[in-house]
Amino acid sequence: MKTFKNLIAPFQRVLLAKRLCPGCTAPLDKMQKHAFNGTEEIVICSCRRMFVYDRTADCYRRATFREAEEFSKRA
Ligand SMILES: [Zn+2]
Repeated sequence: MKTFKNLIAPFQRVLLAKRLCPGCTAPLDKMQKHAFNGTEEIVICSCRRMFVYDRTADCYRRATFREAEEFSKRA
């Protein structure tokens, strides 16, 4: 199973770099963004995966468990 994970992780990073959801390949630019802090926004994909959009770097990354928890407390 380790080999499988090693193949999947870089592929997910490539999709995120292309601004696509690694789960369902939907364009993240089209998803609703929610203010999170001064520089970052929470993006929730239609497949319910949660991402963080960094406005200063203009890029997406997966939300950490802690960020998802913090966001759900506020909502
Ligand atoms: Zn998705």
